Amino acid sequence: MGGGLVGCLLSLYLGKKGYQVDLYERKPDLRKAYKEYGRSINLALSDRGWKALNGIGIGEDIRKVAIPMYGRMVHDLQGKINFQPYGKEGQAIYSVSRGGLNIALLDLVEKEANINLHFSQQCQRVDLQTNEVYLSNSKTGEESVIQTERLFGVDGAYSMVRYALQKTERFEYSQSYLNYGYKELTIAPGPYGRWMLEKEALHIWPRGNYMMIALPNLNGSFTCTLFFPYEGEESFSKLKTEADVEAFFKKQFPDAVPLMPDLVEEYFRNTVGALVTIKCFPWSHQDKILLLGDASHGIVPFYGQGMNAGFEDCTVFNELLNQHNGDWETIFKTFQEMRKPNTDAMADLAIYNFMEMRDLVADPRFILQKKIEAKLNALYPDKWIPLYPMVTFSDMPYAEAQTAGKQHEKIMAKLMPHIQTEADFEKPEVQELVKKYVLNS
Ligand SMILES: Cc1cc2nc3c(=O)[nH]c(=O)nc-3n(C[C@H](O)[C@H](O)[C@H](O)COP(=O)(O)OP(=O)(O)OC[C@H]3O[C@@H](n4cnc5c(N)ncnc54)[C@H](O)[C@@H]3O)c2cc1C
Repeated sequence: MGGGLVGCLLSLYLGKKGYQVDLYERKPDLRKAYKEYGRSINLALSDRGWKALNGIGIGEDIRKVAIPMYGRMVHDLQGKINFQPYGKEGQAIYSVSRGGLNIALLDLVEKEANINLHFSQQCQRVDLQTNEVYLSNSKTGEESVIQTERLFGVDGAYSMVRYALQKTERFEYSQSYLNYGYKELTIAPGPYGRWMLEKEALHIWPRGNYMMIALPNLNGSFTCTLFFPYEGEESFSKLKTEADVEAFFKKQFPDAVPLMPDLVEEYFRNTVGALVTIKCFPWSHQDKILLLGDASHGIVPFYGQGMNAGFEDCTVFNELLNQHNGDWETIFKTFQEMRKPNTDAMADLAIYNFMEMRDLVADPRFILQKKIEAKLNALYPDKWIPLYPMVTFSDMPYAEAQTAGKQHEKIMAKLMPHIQTEADFEKPEVQELVKKYVLNS
């Protein structure tokens, strides 16, 4: 249930194994309706996502329409920029169009003989006793009931499949919202479709309590996202008139405003999205139902890992299918036990990264610490991989990355008081500490 990013990928993994799949999606076929969706919205794809796409052989095709972003380009209040690489030379996260990726996956799904696609079919209710799903056609209103053998709930953060599980005994569920919302805006392409900012970077305007980011699109534009409090001195609630919006953006994002010709019109047209974290357990019901993707673990977008984590679900699920061929109860149980601690860790890391992006990336001490960590990584690659590359450029379980990251923070808290410049790294007392805490760890 759900023909979004994870639902399509999961169907492909199942279909290629020879299972008969029926994929139901509440919206009309995105490929026919794409123009109606209008704006280009992009996502950052990283190693876990690539691994899952490579697993069904489409990584290379997607790479052709993805733009590498090698680091953060931080914009200060005067419009000065500072580039902070994400990892080692050549390591990048990739900006891909959400709609474009979904369409590419739908095209593959359509070609797969074992998969039937059903659009405009909205799940209204799941009966756990009979394994029936009640659907309504979102175009005609016509209602129907289907009998499922195994039901995969990949219907996103507000999953109706999960809703049925929520009513079972001892089902754990929490949803928590940030006091921030987001609004998407556009930096227009320049003449001849030129990118008006550095193309191969993720741009950030950190402003302490809030921020704007921008990711490049293939047509020369950038999709900007303003993450901003709902209420307060500087907040969505305070920007009421066109003059309010213009004055605020000119003051806070002076170098971006001249590149945003439709700023005011877009600001009032585009809605404010909510930022939710969803945790629940169990993710399965007997050997009949399994939740994957945002339906089981909705996270805030600040680490760029929501889709990547959902795609990694497919990789792990596929490995379990190979190991426990046909033993669905074992597959479902093992899957949720393996994934839950990791997606919980990722949810917490994502919240933490908001603070890092909106505030710390502009702090000279933070920047210095990152440079020292890069030195440690270059010198002792087996002992020290910074947190961001562990999460983004590896498939180390998220929970392990989180634990290692906490350990690193403790060590850096001991080193940094002795370090005022990059050169101080060579000071004997610092090297002594490195030997004690890094080499002997
Ligand atoms: C602002 C923002 C930026 C983000 N940036 C990134 C990023 O850079 N990198 C990253 O990895 N992740 C990012 N994410 C997270 C990413 O969008 C999600 O993790 C990802 O879309 C989850 O995929 P999914 O298939 O599980 O759910 P969804 O993409 O939500 O798909 C669910 C599908 O199910 C359908 N559906 C829903 N209810 C029903 C129903 N009742 N019946 C039938 N069908 C139904 C929906 O129409 C949809 O097609 C971002 C999220 C946000 C909000």
